[in-house]
Amino acid sequence: MTELELILTGKTERHIHWLTPNVGIHHEMLSSFTQLQLAAKTAGIALTIASGFRSYERQLAIWQNKFSGLTAIKDDKNKTLAIEHLSEEEKIHAIMLFSALPGASRHHWGCDIDVYAKNLLPADQSLALEPWEYQQPGYFYPLTCWLAEHAKQFGFFLPYDKFRGGVAQEPWHLSYSPLSQPYQQAYSEELLANTIVHSDIKGKARLLALLPELYQRYIVNVAMP
Ligand SMILES: [Zn+2]
Repeated sequence: MTELELILTGKTERHIHWLTPNVGIHHEMLSSFTQLQLAAKTAGIALTIASGFRSYERQLAIWQNKFSGLTAIKDDKNKTLAIEHLSEEEKIHAIMLFSALPGASRHHWGCDIDVYAKNLLPADQSLALEPWEYQQPGYFYPLTCWLAEHAKQFGFFLPYDKFRGGVAQEPWHLSYSPLSQPYQQAYSEELLANTIVHSDIKGKARLLALLPELYQRYIVNVAMP
């Protein structure tokens, strides 16, 4: 694989600058992110990254745990699904509503981050990363409004701004377009197929059979900057 293909599929960390032991972002995004964070601070919002770079291995573990039932799979109403009653195909779609295929997560790229407002999270609450927190009257609603007005001037946009029939709405997921647009253009169904063929992913045969449909529905089906 080329260096670019390694980045696109989460198989390298060489492009990552670690802000904390657990939170890493693309080093070419550091300056723009710092400016975004500073501007938010002047508006009274402590913009904080909940999740940045995620490796292929991390995403694979998430997938395997959901596919095998070790981690609950939720539906769009936050209800746990009885996976023993689902076909493999139904299970794949249920997982992909909230979790990307390993090798196809925008978090591999390092230029996509999940954010929240640390100072607006009530002391007795833990972060859920669920849409109600970001919508009126949720406590992160001021962050949602601020991002809608200001994110663009720093190069950021929301690829999962609304449900488009693929990935669920993610009002916390920011993408840095100067990096993510070229990455998205370089990404291909062929690269993903190649990644799956060479992995031990659960549901592999079904995934490969469904790949053209999954690629269109979950991967290219996002908002533009
Ligand atoms: Zn995300």
